[in-house]
Amino acid sequence: MKYFVGIDIGSTAIKITVVNESKELIGSRISGSGSMFYKYAHQTLDELLRDLSLSHNDIAYTVATGYGRKLFKEADESISEITANAIGAVAAAKEFGEIKTIINIGGQDSKAISLDDMGNVVNFAMNDRCAAGTGKFLDACAMNLEIGVEELGEKHFNSTGVPLSINSTCAVFAESEIIGLLGNSHSVEDIVCGVHYSIAKRIVKLVKRVGIKEGIYFDGGPALNGGLVNAIENELGKEIFIPKHPQVTTSFGAAIMGVDSYNYEHSLKEA
Ligand code: ADP
Repeated sequence: MKYFVGIDIGSTAIKITVVNESKELIGSRISGSGSMFYKYAHQTLDELLRDLSLSHNDIAYTVATGYGRKLFKEADESISEITANAIGAVAAAKEFGEIKTIINIGGQDSKAISLDDMGNVVNFAMNDRCAAGTGKFLDACAMNLEIGVEELGEKHFNSTGVPLSINSTCAVFAESEIIGLLGNSHSVEDIVCGVHYSIAKRIVKLVKRVGIKEGIYFDGGPALNGGLVNAIENELGKEIFIPKHPQVTTSFGAAIMGVDSYNYEHSLKEA
């Protein structure tokens, strides 16, 4: 059996996924990107292969993607994260049905991707200029509220009031606004809920740039936050699908691409 690796070197986290010849997900691993992407990517790959009892010789093809993809020189191929995200999302959403719109929130950017009936990318919009509406904003809010990002979802659902409005459009000013709200005795739960709705409003504007088509899929680390999912669904007025492992969709897509590229290269050799 041959195996295929997808490596997504994101601004915040490195995600690695292994698939088999049938494009089935065999295993994934996530680690922080830190400042030494290259070293951590290799370490994470070694750890994942060890967990799966595989060796480097079992890997037929490796595809790198994400912000730091060019740094992983050993990859057989590198592809854009938009392409990898779309391939991974279409495969991960099979149980859900057809998807037409992907929302991805990463550590330092957010994207909306529009797909055609065949799952091909027809349009995308990206915010990579401003931290508001990204994972970094959620990380900073959680830090100011002295909670972990993984606690944001629960706090959201324990909010009792009308979601507070966070008016600052800049992440730096929003942080000061949050500290001000805490000083005015607003609860952590109500502030978290307000933060989620402020991000959700930005995301809806981004999605409108590519057109909202039903079959909406949300991935990236912040999709693990059920409170944010709830706010985006309410702002969109539509149900959105969250895959089982939202943070590894893009590396899954890169690994799937590896199977196709490997088969194509081998068909050319045999011809
Ligand atoms: P990138 O690909 O840009 O590195 P990711 O898709 O890996 O970004 O997302 C990273 C972000 O995901 C973090 O900044 C954090 O806000 C969020 N995140 C990670 N784990 C969790 C979790 N368990 N719950 C909620 N949010 C999370």
